[in-house]
Amino acid sequence: MPLDPKRTVAELKELRSLTGDENGAQRVAWTDTWLRAREWFAKKLAELSVEHHYDAAGNNWATLAGESKKSLILGGHLDSVPNGGWLDGALNVLAALEVLRRFASEFNGRPPVTIRLVDWADEEGARFGRSLLGSSAFAGTHSISADRVRTDRDGIKMEGALRRCGVEMDRFADAGKERQNAAAYLELHIEQGPVLEQLGLPLAVVLGTKGVERHGITFHGQEAHSGSTPMNARRDALAAAAKLALEIRNIARKHPDAVCTIGSLKTFPGIVTAVVGRCEATLDQRDLDARILAQMFQEAQDASRRFAEEEKCTVEWSRIWNIEPVPFHPALLELCEQAVREVSGKSHRMPSGPLHDAAEVSRAGIPAVMMFVQSLGGISHNRIEDTREEHLEMSVVALDRLASKTVDWILRT
Ligand SMILES: [Zn+2]
Repeated sequence: MPLDPKRTVAELKELRSLTGDENGAQRVAWTDTWLRAREWFAKKLAELSVEHHYDAAGNNWATLAGESKKSLILGGHLDSVPNGGWLDGALNVLAALEVLRRFASEFNGRPPVTIRLVDWADEEGARFGRSLLGSSAFAGTHSISADRVRTDRDGIKMEGALRRCGVEMDRFADAGKERQNAAAYLELHIEQGPVLEQLGLPLAVVLGTKGVERHGITFHGQEAHSGSTPMNARRDALAAAAKLALEIRNIARKHPDAVCTIGSLKTFPGIVTAVVGRCEATLDQRDLDARILAQMFQEAQDASRRFAEEEKCTVEWSRIWNIEPVPFHPALLELCEQAVREVSGKSHRMPSGPLHDAAEVSRAGIPAVMMFVQSLGGISHNRIEDTREEHLEMSVVALDRLASKTVDWILRT
């Protein structure tokens, strides 16, 4: 059975009609629709002679045993955000299934190294706000004690919702057993941004996932009457925050791939007749280079103090969350570049702004790389998310080539 990329597209459509509605994909992890998607996928796996099980964190593993125990892992996630797109996560799982079928038929069920497919549980964190749940359990970077008390919108506890799907949070760490013999990890994903479409390229090599610094910034000034307070007597907290909102653009623009965003700004008392006495902002900064990220963070702090002083205000910072940049494996980047070039003629290297399961796998010390395929209009997490079918097919071929090259690399190393 040769590789059949058209079948991947057909199966993606099958999954869409089974688990989507007029608002988009509804495969939110730990819901009945997600379980239905997994049941559908288990039937596809049953047509192949592969060992199949769910690990302690609910990740779904299919293993085609090879001559060597060293294993190549191909990963993705069937879960989606509510009203999501048909490709985010699912493309990787179904492309990996096609590659698994090709290996099974080409080597009469016994490839030179073991080939494993994983459908990670709860990549999106859409229901409980904890992304990369299954892959973090695998990587040993999970945070069960903080996570078990999380609740969804209806007040349902995470621990109970997972138990309903057969997952006991106390046993989460056991998922780490799956790391045994893992030699490399590959993940294909839609870009979810506009870069490849703008460049007119179907595919790209992903250099790594950007690190993130996420902070709350509060400017304190003085609430005062908007009619009686002369301009030169004001301590306007919004003025200081507004200057910072413009300055972070200059801070980011010094670096080609850096991004800085002030996504939320709240003013107090927030009425039309008062000078703003307190202004709360959030800042999200990302880059693939840890030094650049640290520099941007420092520059934003310095700028905030300067603007606070200019406006006779004070400023306070509090960390919301951060993660270090995760660069992918140099040898695998090279192989990915070859595969992309062979299939599409040209290659492009770019970092990923969004986080992906591949970052957790890489943090566990397993060589990993990702490949992006163009997203139309750069839109994702939306029912209009789309990619040209010819590009989807090319991506399956490129993943397959990359898988073969990686098998050779595993045998060499
Ligand atoms: Zn995804």
